[in-house]
Amino acid sequence: MIPYSCQSINQEDINEVVRVLQSSHLTQGKEVELFEEALCAYLGVKHAITFNSATSALLTAYSVAGISQDDEIITSPISFVATSNMFVSLGAKPIWCDVRLDGNIDETGIEALITPQTKAIVPVDFAGKSVAIEKIKEIAEKHKLLIIEDAAHAFGSSIGGKKVGTFADMSIFSFHAIKPFTTGEGGCVVTDNEEFARQLRLFRSHGIVKKKLWNSDMQSMGHNFRLTEFAAALGRSQLGRLESFIAQREAIARYYDSVFAGHKLFGIIKLPENTRSSRHLYPILLNPSLHCVKEEIFEALQNKGLGVQVHYKPIYQNSFYKECFGEVRLDVAEDFYRSELSIPCHQEMSLEDAAFVAETLLEVLESYKHRACSF
Ligand SMILES: *Cc1c(COP(=O)(O)O)cnc(C)c1O
Repeated sequence: MIPYSCQSINQEDINEVVRVLQSSHLTQGKEVELFEEALCAYLGVKHAITFNSATSALLTAYSVAGISQDDEIITSPISFVATSNMFVSLGAKPIWCDVRLDGNIDETGIEALITPQTKAIVPVDFAGKSVAIEKIKEIAEKHKLLIIEDAAHAFGSSIGGKKVGTFADMSIFSFHAIKPFTTGEGGCVVTDNEEFARQLRLFRSHGIVKKKLWNSDMQSMGHNFRLTEFAAALGRSQLGRLESFIAQREAIARYYDSVFAGHKLFGIIKLPENTRSSRHLYPILLNPSLHCVKEEIFEALQNKGLGVQVHYKPIYQNSFYKECFGEVRLDVAEDFYRSELSIPCHQEMSLEDAAFVAETLLEVLESYKHRACSF
């Protein structure tokens, strides 16, 4: 089975982890600091604070942003549930904004959703393609709102040479095994804001500040959301390989783009000039004529060795969200969910693998086109 995404671990990565496992510090040593410095240098940000997952990074970012009971957060339903779960866990309410045909929040719909309770905008860079961040920043500045960007898919993405992570008040990345690069589990928040950075560090480690000798002081509420030293060493080693990962995913994506261009049964997502995507996912969008056979197509592809996946069921369709916040329907988000299929695109694949994926996909879709759905 060729998975839709997967990690790439080489001997150097393994050597780095083993080196740290044999050292005196498995946690709270120098490796996390070195990894955070490397993240800052790569992205061009002042502060990078690592966490044991992007989910804890999100919870921490929302907490230090002051998000609390009855605040409203404008966000996208086309994401992993953690994006909204973490502010809902603080008592805030999701205000769903519909998406564009590329799965990113439709920035033209944001302003109409703003109320006196609105506290922040939380966009998600779907598949690694940056949201319209400049427009979103204009809206946020006009209404004095924070932007907390869930960039879990987008490490290494950029606009006009500026990395995703340098635009929002705080940006969150994930280092889960199948994200753009990995520490096994892990994540970070990046920011240029000194005060946010200080509070992010405190919240990560019990709210404790070291005083003199044995004395320490717990100044604010905190958790243990720390990354281990060996995970940080793996992260630093992986970060050194990231450009080669993105180059391979880009080569595969461009190959798909050229083979799939103008196809009658499905569409692809184009990237604007002057941007780069991490290519975390390669989504295709099935035409409505195939929506009613999507489950059969999915199974047929899996049976032929393609580890396809669907990203994502709109978050508001989950039973927890229906019970807490009622029924929601957003036309483009629903349509996107019916159309979307993520096909294999990762750095462990060769262009021959990509050719096999493309051939198999076209063959399967052709075999279903006569079963066209009525709509
Ligand atoms: C993976 C993911 C997360 C959660 O990341 P973890 O590191 O697994 O906690 C959050 N948001 C999005 C959009 C993701 O894809």
